[in-house]
Amino acid sequence: MTKFSDLALDPRVLQAVSEAGYETPTPIQAQAIPEALTGRDVLGIAQTGTGKTASFTLPMITLLGQGRARARMPRSLVLAPTRELAAQVAENFDIYAKHTRLTKALLIGGVAFGEQDKLIDRGVDVLIATPGRLLDHFERGKLLLTGVQIMVVDEADRMLDMGFIPDIERIFTLTPPKRQTMFYSATMAPEIERITKTFLKNPARIEVARQATTSTTITQSLIELKPVRKDRVFGDKRAVLRALIRAEGEACTNAIIFCNRKMDVDVVAKSLKSHGFNAAPIHGDLAQSERMKTLDAFRDGSLHLLVASDVAARGLDIPAVSHVFNFDVPSHPEDYVHRIGRTGRAGRLGKAFTISVPSDEKYLKAIESLIKAEIPRGPLPEGFEPDTREGKPDRPPREDRKGRERAGRGRDRERPVKAHDEVAPMEPLVAVPKAEVTEAEPREEERREERREERREPRGERGERGGERRRDERQESRGERREDRGDRREPREDRRDYRRDRDLGPAVIGMGDHVPDFILRSFALKPSKAEDLEDASATGTEG
Ligand code: AMP
Repeated sequence: MTKFSDLALDPRVLQAVSEAGYETPTPIQAQAIPEALTGRDVLGIAQTGTGKTASFTLPMITLLGQGRARARMPRSLVLAPTRELAAQVAENFDIYAKHTRLTKALLIGGVAFGEQDKLIDRGVDVLIATPGRLLDHFERGKLLLTGVQIMVVDEADRMLDMGFIPDIERIFTLTPPKRQTMFYSATMAPEIERITKTFLKNPARIEVARQATTSTTITQSLIELKPVRKDRVFGDKRAVLRALIRAEGEACTNAIIFCNRKMDVDVVAKSLKSHGFNAAPIHGDLAQSERMKTLDAFRDGSLHLLVASDVAARGLDIPAVSHVFNFDVPSHPEDYVHRIGRTGRAGRLGKAFTISVPSDEKYLKAIESLIKAEIPRGPLPEGFEPDTREGKPDRPPREDRKGRERAGRGRDRERPVKAHDEVAPMEPLVAVPKAEVTEAEPREEERREERREERREPRGERGERGGERRRDERQESRGERREDRGDRREPREDRRDYRRDRDLGPAVIGMGDHVPDFILRSFALKPSKAEDLEDASATGTEG
């Protein structure tokens, strides 16, 4: 078996690795590190949890050991799709480079430009960034990419999901052609294949077993809920969830609860809190500082239950999670594997409960066919009683929601969504955010939301741009951020959309019962155009 000491890594890196407690390289590390150290391009087909971050960070640190950074010209670049993932890479870099004098900067949304500018001005060896933010710095003339010797693209398939591929292509063209490229993706969609053919030179293709099977350390259970009242499914699922958590008792040291829809993440978290659970949500609508605070609390054990969407939680490295609860059966089978893989890590035992309703049947079939096993059926937890009381549905019927959503876009973004909880009965939702409407493809919608979120300016940095910090902060607090994007150069496609968005007039906030014409206007566009426009229109009015 390969040992780290066989890998020709810098002794300072080896020392840091040993202090991190790693004994042997993971398969992706054992295969990618020797190739990377020869200067060859690497194409890693691997997911989070395989040790892929160290597989590019360790050789990078070794290769950058010689030479010095020059002002505004980073020597290497790591691109990650989300702020959290970029921050995670930066944390890894700090661990592995602690005995070296290499410097790094993290360029992500939610962090003021000023500090980052100073670091980059001085010169950094490693620049870790999200694509949009990197291009912002570049376009402000604060950064030159011509000194990049090593470029890493991490989680490329997720970049594709989030619409970052044009940005990535552009960044590739801004770096010198003789750079070394390490490119990681969990899957090889045709678009990803195309990029690697265009920008990688004879890469060493390293594929580690795709996680289509679930770990044997995870005990899975499927709780089939057959609601007595169809219009009380949502409340019944929350009651099942509470009963399951209670039944697990102290064995449930912490848990991630996955919902398919971002809005449900909020509602489920609020509902749990109102029942005395220590729970908090994480999704793309929350401020970056809030997301980081929540994750830190979950990591340090002060938060017991993390309610999350797939987009927000994917790729996050949280080592010790005793339980995963799927509040919804995921509509994409591979998400099931990702979700339950958050527990039972590193040989620990974990439990994964999935709550299903009859309409989930086709998703369950897809999951069971992917994992090549039947998820064991478990009994409904003790203490669960279906809601048979007279009264209103626990959420409005689907058609209503659509109509209301259309009419209320913008307004519902301004005020917090109220939990429709049976303990604190809720008025029917007046307006439901867009994620609610696209139920058939909730994940796609979330991705678009996340993309928009990633492209937004962080709070407090606009003053540095236009001296209008105060005004902008007020607007942001009202949920109005459309102007933020006005001074950003987006890839051509996006620019066209934003211009069209601006043509629709100023953002409409708090429109009351009045429905502006543009919301009701129908457009006979090709499907892709229609989707773009929907995107632009939604970003124009949301917070
Ligand atoms: P990643 O796939 O890069 O997100 O890594 C997943 C987790 O594995 C992280 O918590 C790493 O600290 C850990 N890890 C990476 N390499 C090793 C190794 N060789 N031995 C043990 N743990 C590792």
